[in-house]
Amino acid sequence: MRYISTRGTAPVLDFRQVTLAGLASDGGLYLPETWPTFSPEQIAAMRGLSYVDTAVEVMAPFVEGTLGRDDLKALCEQAYGRFSHAAVTPLVQLDGQHWLLELFHGPTLAFKDVALQLLGLLFERFLSGSDKQVTVVGATSGDTGSAAIDALAGRAGVDVFMLHPKGRVSDVQRRQMTTVLAPNIHNIALEGASFDDCQALVKAMFNSPEFSGTFALSAVNSINWARLMAQIVYYFYAAVRLGAPERPVAFSVPTGNFGDVFAGYVAAKMGLPVAKLIVATNVNDILHRALSQGDYSQGSVVPTPSPSMDIQVSSNFERLLFDLGGRDGAALAAQMQGFEASKAMRLTNAQQSGAAGLLRSDRIDLDDMAMAMRWACEGAGQVIDPHTAIGLAAARRADLKDVPIVTLATAHPAKFDDAVERATGMRPALPARVGDLFDREERYASLPGTFAAVTAYIAERAVPSA
Ligand SMILES: *Cc1c(COP(=O)(O)O)cnc(C)c1O
Repeated sequence: MRYISTRGTAPVLDFRQVTLAGLASDGGLYLPETWPTFSPEQIAAMRGLSYVDTAVEVMAPFVEGTLGRDDLKALCEQAYGRFSHAAVTPLVQLDGQHWLLELFHGPTLAFKDVALQLLGLLFERFLSGSDKQVTVVGATSGDTGSAAIDALAGRAGVDVFMLHPKGRVSDVQRRQMTTVLAPNIHNIALEGASFDDCQALVKAMFNSPEFSGTFALSAVNSINWARLMAQIVYYFYAAVRLGAPERPVAFSVPTGNFGDVFAGYVAAKMGLPVAKLIVATNVNDILHRALSQGDYSQGSVVPTPSPSMDIQVSSNFERLLFDLGGRDGAALAAQMQGFEASKAMRLTNAQQSGAAGLLRSDRIDLDDMAMAMRWACEGAGQVIDPHTAIGLAAARRADLKDVPIVTLATAHPAKFDDAVERATGMRPALPARVGDLFDREERYASLPGTFAAVTAYIAERAVPSA
């Protein structure tokens, strides 16, 4: 499989190169040159497969030429062996139409473990035997950081610099990052910054010839293709359990950077019968405005109890626009440059009509979120986190008759215990495996949110590429 950039001019890469690179050198994002597809018979043959065996089926075409099936299976067994549920991503039924797909049974209690546990092993595999030293620079609204840090702590050849907006992540999220004391892990709290500010700084480092020429920079944010690839798996796993390919299934996805929902889009492109993909945003609703009115214009970020969705620039949306717009790199580069200059753009007619068939969006405010939490609790005995509640609220409003709707449960409720307690009166307990989090020592740097301050800090600690 070969990978091309959404902006058309970066070199074509193989799976190994695309995994280690993250962002493309022309400012775009990498995508497979073509979508592999499965026939209904091939999808039917996934019935009864374990999560790991499903993962091998779904991901094999994407790693072709770099990893064989046996290698891929061994990596998946190791990655998903660290999940605390035997089904890895179990389905839970709420009523006759609604289901939760629990994606939070990994080490850091959010769905990002599904991708990052595998990505950590891929990094180690691709770097071993070389003396290459990679510098991972990432921005996090909370969950990516903890999942990446867990996956990369202590791994040879990798230093991790993780930027988070100071005071805007939950205590559990922060401690899951800052109590990892491995010497290759560096947490940076940016003062007065939002997640978008952190993300913009990371982008600027990649786009700085001086900085990216000095260090072998690598990205573990959801712009990294390998992460999206790992997330395609659970759409297949869940839909097949609910009757695919004969019965179409809808998914409701709490969305921030459009990574998780883009993985669902890819699953549909690969032949999975997805009746609808519901793009659920909180009041930071740039994606809802883009999909319902064609208006992709950046507002200012409003902090909410679902911080992992408090995003106004949605990196992976570029991948959707590229695919829907006929994969024209030059046209997309011009469109994105227009957005970067004016912080606003219109979707083309082709992009809007292309999205309309499969995608539906909704914006969920605080009241609707709290109501969905109470409905799950009182109606089905399920305590859910604020992000999941946004997905569930959108699912319940979607008016899809006779179609099972799977809401992606993206975080364990204990990760956001204050918000859950406010809505439901119940305070969810941390699972025993992370129970001593509040007794552990924390270590992190607080820096002003400027390019100069952050790059100086990293340059003092990272290993330059040879
Ligand atoms: C990251 C995250 C999201 C948003 O996922 P995207 O891939 O950025 O759209 C939603 N919920 C939780 C709990 C998350 O950690």
